[in-house]
Parts: sequence; C-alpha cells; structure tokens
Amino acid sequence: MNPARCYHNRLGRIRILPDQVANKIAAGEVVERPASVVKELLENSLDAGATIVRVEVESGGRRLIRIVDDGCGMLRDDALLAFERHATSKLRDVKDLLSIATLGFRGEALPSIASVSRLLLETRAAEETTGTRIEIAGGKMLRCEEAALGGGTVITVRDLFYNVPARRKFLRTEPTELAHIASLVTHYSLAHPEKTFLLTSGPTELLHVTPVGTMKERVYQVFGSQVLDELVEIGMRQREMFLPPPSVLASEAIAEYRREPDDPPTRLFRLSGFFSRPQVQKGNRNSIYIFVNGRLIRDRLLLHAISSAYHNLMPASSYPFALLFLQCDAEEVDVNVHPSKTEVRFRHGSFVHDFVRDTLRERLMESRPAPAFSPRTVEPAQPGARLPYSEFSQMLADAAPSAPSLVEPPAPPAPTGAAEPELPAFTLRPTAGPVPRLDFSAPPLEITPGPPPSGKLSRRLDAHGEFPPDAIPAPEVSLSALSDLRPLGQIHESFIIAAGRDGLWIIDQHVAHERILFEQVMKQRAAGRVEMQRLLMPLILQLTPEQQIDYARIADELNASGFETEPFGNRTIAVKAAPANLSAAELDKILYEILEIAESELRGASLDDLRRNICASIACRAAIKINMRLDTAKMEWLLRALAATDCPMSCPHGRPIAMHYSTRDILKGFHRI
Ligand code: ADP
Ligand code: MG
Repeated sequence: MNPARCYHNRLGRIRILPDQVANKIAAGEVVERPASVVKELLENSLDAGATIVRVEVESGGRRLIRIVDDGCGMLRDDALLAFERHATSKLRDVKDLLSIATLGFRGEALPSIASVSRLLLETRAAEETTGTRIEIAGGKMLRCEEAALGGGTVITVRDLFYNVPARRKFLRTEPTELAHIASLVTHYSLAHPEKTFLLTSGPTELLHVTPVGTMKERVYQVFGSQVLDELVEIGMRQREMFLPPPSVLASEAIAEYRREPDDPPTRLFRLSGFFSRPQVQKGNRNSIYIFVNGRLIRDRLLLHAISSAYHNLMPASSYPFALLFLQCDAEEVDVNVHPSKTEVRFRHGSFVHDFVRDTLRERLMESRPAPAFSPRTVEPAQPGARLPYSEFSQMLADAAPSAPSLVEPPAPPAPTGAAEPELPAFTLRPTAGPVPRLDFSAPPLEITPGPPPSGKLSRRLDAHGEFPPDAIPAPEVSLSALSDLRPLGQIHESFIIAAGRDGLWIIDQHVAHERILFEQVMKQRAAGRVEMQRLLMPLILQLTPEQQIDYARIADELNASGFETEPFGNRTIAVKAAPANLSAAELDKILYEILEIAESELRGASLDDLRRNICASIACRAAIKINMRLDTAKMEWLLRALAATDCPMSCPHGRPIAMHYSTRDILKGFHRI
C-alpha cells in the first residue's frame, strides 16, 4: 500500500470530539464514584470560602448528592460558563500552574459531573440581587433562569451515571459508597476545624461538627476522647530548606521553574497533625490521611516516610493511623499530576521525606506513649467516623486486646475437686506479627434511620460538640515513668507487675530486654565495636545453594555485627566468634534465621534495614525469655534500663512492651469517680 495514502487516510479519520463526548471521557477520570463527586463539590465549596458546608446523600450518593454552602456564589454569566470545559476562575495563565493555592484549577469537574447525572445548580453571588438556577441532564442544558435565592451555592446531583450503565454496574454496594463519602467528609472536616460540616444520609445524621479553635478539639469532636488517647499530637514542627544556588537549580530537570529575583533563599516546610502509638497496627494504609496544603492526597513518598518512622517499632507489614498536614510554598509541590488531583510531586522530594520521617520519629521518642488498657466503654463518636471505611472506632477495639491476644491460655482444666485451682501455664504464640488485621471486606455497618431532627438532636450534638475539660485525656503517660516503678512481682514468670506514681504497669520481660539489647547492639555496631565472644570450637554450618548466595551478600554486615564467619569448603561456613550475649547453643538457629530474613525480606532493601534486622535477631535471641523467674533486683534493673532506651514503646519487631492501667482507670473501675 502506498504509505502516503495510508497517512492521508489516517489523517482523514481524526475528529475533534463533540464536547458532550469529551466531557464523558473526562468524567471517567474525574468521577469514579459518588465520593469523587462529593470530593470535587466539597473542594469547590472550600475554594469559594464557605464556612458552613452541608452534604446530603441518598442511597450512597447514587440517587442524590446535594452540597449546600455559604461561599461566594457565582455571578450569572460565570454560572453558565462553569459548565464549559476548562472554565475556571482559579487559573489565569500557565504561570499560575506553578503555584496553585486552590483545591481546584482544571475547570473539569462541573462539566464532567453534569455529563453523567441530572444536575441542578442554584447560586447567588453577594454582588447580585437575584440568583441563578441552571438545570442540566446528561450534559444537556435544560433550563437557565433567574431565581430568588439566598447567598451561596447549592448543587444537587441526582441519578449519577444514569446515562452510563457500564459505570453504574461497577459501583459497590450503597453502604460501601456511603462509607467512602463519610470518610472523605470526615477528613475534610478534620482539615478545617474552623468550619461547620454536616453530613446526612437520608434522615440519618452521620457527621455534624461546629467550629472549634484547634485541630485537637476537632479530633475529639469526630472520634471522641478514646481515639484521641491513642494518638500522639505533633504540634507544629517546621524545617527550613536552603535553596541551592541558581546554577545548581538550573541543572535540575525542572525546566519551567524560574527563580524570581525576590524569591526567598529558603523554603519553609511545616508539619502538624496526629499519628498513632506504635501498638495501633493496621493491616493496610487506609488509615493514613495526608493533606498537603489543605488537599487530601495519596503519596508514596510520604507513605514511605511514615513507615520508616515506625521502623523497628512496628512490624514491616503493619501501618499506623496518621492524620498529617503538610504546609509548604505552593511552588514546592506540583498538584497537576493526576486527573483527580490526588497525587502530587514534590520539587524536593527527599527533603520532604526526611522531614516527615524525622519529625514523627522525634515525637515518638519524646512522648514515649504508653499503651493503655482500660475497661472504658467506647464513647459514641460521630456516626460517620464509625463507618467501616474510616475504621476509627474499631481502632481501640483492635489496639487494646492486641497484647493479651498474643497469649494463648489453654482450655481450662476439667474440675478435679482440688482445693487450689492452679493457674494455667501460658504459652506465647510463635508469631511476632501484628494481631489486629482490618480490611475493607469487613461487613459494613448497617445504618438505621435515626430519629427525626428535633431539639433533642442538637442537645446530643452539644454534648459532643464541645470539649469538656473532663474529656481531655489525662496528661500523656510517658514510658519515662518506668524508671520510678516499684516491681511487685511477676505473673506466670513472664510479665512484671509494677506500681508507679500513676497506677499499675505490666511489662513483658522478654520484649523489654529485647529492646534494651537491640539499642545496645545498634550503638555498638555504629561505633564499630560489638562485644564478641570466641567459640572454643568453630561451629560448622551447612548451607543450601540459596543460603550460600544470601550468605555471600550479607557476610560483611554479619561480620561487622559481631560474628566471625568465613567460607569453609563447599556450601559450608565456619563460625569462630559471635556477639557476647548469645548462647552458643543457639548460634546455628540465629544464623539460619538471619539468612532467612536476608532471603525473604531484604531483597532490594537497604543496608540500614539489613543492619537493623540483624541486630533485632541478636537481641531477640539474647534476651531473657518468658517463663523465667526474676528477682527484685533484676526486675528493677530491667525497668531502669528500659526507661533509658530511646524507644521503650515496642520491641524491634513491633510488639508492645508495657501496658499502663492509670489510677483514673482504677478509680473508674471501682466507681469512685
Ligand atoms: P475548578 O474547581 O477546577 O475551577 P470546577 O469545574 O470544579 O473547576 O468549577 C468551575 C468553576 O465554577 C470554579 O472555578 C468556580 O469559579 C465555580 N464554582 C464551582 N463551584 C462553586 C461554588 N460552590 N461556589 C462558588 N463558585 C463555584
Ligand atoms: Mg473544582
């Protein structure tokens, strides 16, 4: 075939898509599900400066989504223009793309939503005396008229995807879609404590929060004091970055970045928010919420920074709860990378990563939060926060029993008539992994219609809307208190019971010692002098071909960590010395264990990870075991040494070390307060 002709033909086939089709395609990117509609409309309301945002949904948002705000409203001409593609009031030219301060900027949301639903816009700008009502269905304008309306904007979206059956089929069940919406509105309400948010599903109120002065008060409003108890507050931390000189900057592949003459030579990054104590362990990242300049985003770099902050405090496969707000100059972050604007790109990614990781780590070390286990009943937080997607109300239920559930009491012995029933012997389950696992497949909470709105309702909200001083969690009990504890004895020769200034403590002797040894070995390793013991006879270990490969890869690190090993013939190594605390009888076990870690976890992981894992293995093997009697002096020593560690919260594999039963909890339990 004649190539010229072919080219000509192909050219002839290209058509500019009619707007209606183009909008539907854009809708495929912007409007994935009802929650994406809520997100776009909510962001528009916030961009419009609203202080009160009301979200009403029916049937998980399929039948109805209505957002009412008291923002600036739209002028008549603007209201019409808003449904044109790429019509936005938020950008003027391409320069503005470099410093986007609003949540929206593409001018795609309204036309996209209008093309896949029946949409009604009612809006009035303060400058105009009458408002505008516009009705659109499937992208076609049905009506545009003047109307007597209050200030602000109401957008009603009915029958989402009514004209795109393929998309409708992919929607999940109504409770699931509703849970996504509730989670979204809840989190935007956390980012804006100074605003009022109301979310209703039919007659049921899922969230109602009134303005408060601090984020802590908002967390309390939404989740209640128990969840607040489980969190560490960051406060406001900042780090300044010195910009490289212009020449270096130019060499970076940021072609469009132009340094203005009056640019400050530094950039300020600020981090605030909350994150959970290490014992709150989630099986996925769904409880991590990151806002960058007020925008809710998913970012792998920041997710990684958060996980590394918990390194050796939590198992690698577990994730914390985190609500982080990162603030930086708009030029430092590119939000124009993803259709739904949920991903960002940082101009100085590694700086941001390290800032977030270090801040969380520092706060964890400073606050040394103690896990509490208490008989308190779960207070009713906002129902929206109890939906399965947001998971938060389950957080405590999951966190509290995690330590006891590591212990498996055998079935009670059959009654024998003996006078003194003996306590059953305890056995620890071999797994060190996190116990609570949550996933989306949990049966969704059934939402039963609540009482109709009445005076009663507002009283209920008031009861939770304020921040009664009593509800503010008692001053954070820090694990530094461990050094003042008076050991009273052991339970099952495994757990130390101790009395302190504020209540009772239970400490797992094995993991406590493991943490002490881990930090000791890490410090010795960093200083290049790990205490060693020579073996009388070298230990000879047989390796499989895989183990041989892994050994070759980690031999240097192994030898720097206090082992002296060398190849000894075919697939055999000789061990001549080992770290001082290890029992010679266990040497083969620990070496095989390290090789296993090297094989399974560490392919592609950093040298730092390998080092930490080797040290963790040594610490675990060398630590005193459970089912071992300790005298008072030993227990005192253990508590003091634990208090002196950097992270007395968790063992290097992520298990909690100490549990605290506060005086307040004890008084409550005996109904004295
Ligand atoms: P973008 O938010 O990217 O600008 P949208 O399609 O979401 O694009 O909205 C188009 C425009 O409509 C916005 O730029 C804004 O001027 C106007 N608009 C949308 N929602 C509101 C609202 N709730 N209040 C006032 N103006 C709004
Ligand atoms: Mg928008």
